[in-house]
Order: sequence, then C-alpha cells, then structure tokens
Amino acid sequence: MAKDCEQVLFVTFAKDGLYQIQCSGLVPGPGHVCCTLIVGENKCLLIDNGFGDDDFTDFPPELQPLMAGKELICVGTHAHPDHIGGARQFPSIWVHPDDNDLIAGIFGDAYDPKANKIGDTQVLPLADGQIFDLGGRKVKTIHTPGHTWGSCCFYDDKSQLIMTGDALNRHVMYQCVHPAVPLRLCAEKLENLLQYNFALFLGGHHGDPFPRDFVTRMVQLIRAFDVEKAPPYIRKDLEKLNIIGDHRNFHWGRGYGDPEYVSIIVDAARLDEYLK
Ligand SMILES: [Zn+2]
Repeated sequence: MAKDCEQVLFVTFAKDGLYQIQCSGLVPGPGHVCCTLIVGENKCLLIDNGFGDDDFTDFPPELQPLMAGKELICVGTHAHPDHIGGARQFPSIWVHPDDNDLIAGIFGDAYDPKANKIGDTQVLPLADGQIFDLGGRKVKTIHTPGHTWGSCCFYDDKSQLIMTGDALNRHVMYQCVHPAVPLRLCAEKLENLLQYNFALFLGGHHGDPFPRDFVTRMVQLIRAFDVEKAPPYIRKDLEKLNIIGDHRNFHWGRGYGDPEYVSIIVDAARLDEYLK
C-alpha cells in the first residue's frame, strides 16, 4: 500500500549504489537526521540509524530489491542519540570503543558495558582503518576524533564519497565530550581526509553532499580559532534543554544561508581543553 505520510525514510541523494536517507526527527541546530546506505554485490552497509523512530525493516521501496538477500551491516559514526538511537533494531552495531561511555549515557540500564551489549544488540569495536568489503566495493573506516573521541568517517571507494557523521557538517562542529578533543588534533584528523580521492562528502545532518574544499575551509577555521572573536552562541531552545551553557561560536560567513558558512561552537568554560 502506498504510504500517505512523509515521515518515513526517503532518499535525498544517490550515487553509484550509495544512498543518503533522511530519517524522521529534528535536532535543534543541525536540523534533519540522515543515514547512508551503501549497497554492494554481497552485503549492504548502513551508516547511522537516527533517533530510533524509524522502521529499518521498511527501507524506501526503490532500495528494497537492491538489498534483498544481502547481509545488512550496521555501523555508527559516533554514539550520539540522533545517530545510533535505532541500534536496538539490529543484531549488532559497530561503534568505535572511545564512544562507549556515551553509549552508556544514551541507553542507561539497557547497556551492559561488560558484555558490550545494548539489550540484545551486540556492540562491536570499530577500528581505525577497518574495511568493510561489500562485494565490488570497499568502505574504509577513518577514526576522526573531534566531535566525539570515537567519531569515525567512512570512505566508499566506488562512489568516492566520504561520510562524516558529525565530525564535519556544514555549519557546526560542536565538541560536546569531556574532556574535549583538542582543536589541534581535530584539525589534523580532518586534514588527513584530504589524502582520499573524493570530490564530495556527506554529513550526518544534510541530505545533499558538500564539496571537498569545505574540508580545507574548516581546517583553516579551526587553526585560526580565536575566542576573542567568537560571539556568544545563544539558543534559547538548547538552554531550556540544559545542554548548553556559555558557548561561543567562531565562524566565517554570514550565517546559515551562506553556502560557505562554517563554524565551531565551543564551551567557553573549557578553553584549556580545546587549546591543549
Ligand atoms: Zn553528534
């Protein structure tokens, strides 16, 4: 039966058997939540799974025949609730172990750190350089600490796209882990992405890809960081949620409408951690 509701998984961008999919749910600030499905000859890889409001047995209809009979491997770019909130729908999920403490924070008692399980879902330790051979294409894991310590990007050699999760998005690189990842290390890891052959990358909150130049621009911004030039980042909705205090926004460009806009949001009270 045809669906009459827009609040379902749908494809926003496709290239060579790679599909950017918009999930339901919004995040104050970044906006939409996206995941990526990569279809190989033998296996499929799902990168992220949203807040957990979507039914991952019900992929967009045009994708279902492509996935039929193939194992579905599930990975998380990092352990924030808008990226692995649906983890329990899968028998297992690969997440970098540096984010295990965040898993505990999200899933509470449902997470057993000893067994590394969320309910019945086994959390598997994702490693830098780990390759997922899907048949006819390989996807490489690139550990990219910054947004969180366990953040990873994924390079697909067939579409020549990099999926960055929240390690790199269009507008915001919000460092919200304790202790924070030093900006110097974050810039270095993002710069390492440039060794890969890609023209476009897909972030975790945008349906369409961004150009390679954007990586360089963000790295330059991080290296130019100057808190004296970073105005307060005021978001009343986030204040109410009590997850943001005295934050500063260091940015280039005129705001979200500017296609070249980049920004770093930092917690003003923890500058020593960023500047280590
Ligand atoms: Zn995140």
